[in-house]
Amino acid sequence: MIKKIQGIVVSETPYKESSKILNILTEEGIIGVVSKGCKNIKSPLRIISNKLSYNEFVIYYHDGSLSTLKEGSVINYLSNIKSDLTLNSYLIYLTDLTSQVINEGNKKQIFDDYINTILKIEEGLNPTILTNILEVKYLDYLGAPINFKSCVKCGNEKDIVTISSIEGGYICKNCYTNEVIYDSKVIKMLKMYYLVDIKTIKELKISDNVVECINDFLRDYYESYTGLYIKSKEFLNKIKEY
Ligand SMILES: [Zn+2]
Repeated sequence: MIKKIQGIVVSETPYKESSKILNILTEEGIIGVVSKGCKNIKSPLRIISNKLSYNEFVIYYHDGSLSTLKEGSVINYLSNIKSDLTLNSYLIYLTDLTSQVINEGNKKQIFDDYINTILKIEEGLNPTILTNILEVKYLDYLGAPINFKSCVKCGNEKDIVTISSIEGGYICKNCYTNEVIYDSKVIKMLKMYYLVDIKTIKELKISDNVVECINDFLRDYYESYTGLYIKSKEFLNKIKEY
């Protein structure tokens, strides 16, 4: 069966003399394809067989085994991202994260959110905010959604005083002990991150302080609740500190 599909090459393995086996992240999950002869300078498959460009692929699809790449074209080279070490680190981290999440839920929704996030970063919007938005949305698929409705200790929907990355959601006035108090703007904005449709985002005007608080909250929350370890996240954090 011939299939036309959009995706991003997430990893490659050399195969025979001039070919590669590619893993392509798509709306149907990760598809393994053989790209025959793509290492030859004149190969029409050469450009689209490179990692981390957003391409359209035409493949001879074999369910359950390796497919074969027939042809394709580049939709977006993501050149702005690739020319910036920090942005490139975001791209690698988001791709690693999505590769781990893609099979845990609605693949099309996950892929669309991932691509739209990358395209917004390529357009120049704040990569920390966009990454955090995607991270909040992915928590649903990782079986660790943040409770945005009521106090996680007693169920009270009123008198919320903070949100806790340790307890996993809102804390009300009655249940508060010694949790970090986050500004109400942080709590409100985190919920907006969860609800926003990424492809409709035109601009992001959020104060640096709120952005940093949410970023720290999500880092702690991911550590406490997801059990995911993603090496490229550590590298990204180092680059940001540098
Ligand atoms: Zn409570």
